[in-house]
Amino acid sequence: MISSSQSLSLLFLSTPVGVLGTGEGGGVELTIKNLAQDLLHSKHQVNILAPKDSYLENIPIETIPGNLQVAVQGEGREAPIRLPANSVLANMCDYARQVQSQYDLIVNFAYDWLPFYLTPFFQTPIAHFISMGSMSEALDEIMRETASRFPNTLGVYTKTQAETFPFADACRCLGSGLDLSLYEFSRESNPEFVWLGRIAPEKGLEDAVAAAEQLGVRLKIFGLLQDQTYWHKILESYPHASIHYGGFLPTHELQQEIRQCRGLLMTPRWVEAFGNVAIEALACGVPVISYRRGGPAEIIQDGKTGFLVEPDSVEGLIKAMKRIGEIDRWACRQQAEAEYSLPALRDRFLQWFNQILTSSK
Ligand code: UDP
Repeated sequence: MISSSQSLSLLFLSTPVGVLGTGEGGGVELTIKNLAQDLLHSKHQVNILAPKDSYLENIPIETIPGNLQVAVQGEGREAPIRLPANSVLANMCDYARQVQSQYDLIVNFAYDWLPFYLTPFFQTPIAHFISMGSMSEALDEIMRETASRFPNTLGVYTKTQAETFPFADACRCLGSGLDLSLYEFSRESNPEFVWLGRIAPEKGLEDAVAAAEQLGVRLKIFGLLQDQTYWHKILESYPHASIHYGGFLPTHELQQEIRQCRGLLMTPRWVEAFGNVAIEALACGVPVISYRRGGPAEIIQDGKTGFLVEPDSVEGLIKAMKRIGEIDRWACRQQAEAEYSLPALRDRFLQWFNQILTSSK
């Protein structure tokens, strides 16, 4: 039996779709950073393998050269598995293979076929943290095989996310968490709303812009501009919307912007696996209005810390925006503190890691 107080040596495989710190990898970047930081503070050893130029303050990163993976959400369900020449993912796996004996456990954050396929070829056990819902037949298949050969090794953010997979019961829900000391509570707000995230079709930004335009309120937008064509189409379609795009900000600056706003709008077209931005807003005391779809539907307490709205209904967003004053901003902060602290996240992951290590002995 592995003692839960034993110091672990962990090798994280970061997402191969982007350079850590740029936002290209989406919310999983924050999860990797938060978890690594907290494990390091609590006497565990963590090393992260990530694409070249990746950087996280005070966290050891081994950068690996090679070409980035194409994000699977743009590929379609039936698409075959693709790897570029000189694939960074393949290079990361090869590096992990060479150094594996120095680690108790490898933790894979790549939503990609290769690390799942290679699991039986490693001597060191691998925990797979799956950061999105079902996207690809080939990936679902290799994940299902991994779950059956290596029970308890698949972790996810939420139950709703797990339910998109044919192996939902094999998934362990780990949620997410934040360093709450980095997010300052604000009781007061300006009249504007905020929208956060990668600017890409699966995030449904156009609905938030449409709602803001119809209501005549200002919408601030922050996040990585991932799809330029999509963005320009939104600007053309809603010429009268009062929007301000502030770029992709680091957490410290981002929370300063969020906390001044009346509410966060979340408009996912897909089953959002979690939605880290929801808990970042709550941590600042900002209520969240979201479509009742995916992770946000498990996070937001309807009528208490925000509103859940019929999916794809701009009318629904507008109705909720008009009622935003009913939400007590302190209740939002309290929910973040009660459910999304970093020590709680660390404990959930450590219990999972220890279970995998115990059963692999
Ligand atoms: N984010 C950021 N700066 C910004 C806007 C967003 O760092 O200006 C981060 C935010 O903290 C969150 C991530 O982008 O961690 C978006 O993640 P989310 O889980 O909401 O969605 P995903 O991109 O994974 O679909």
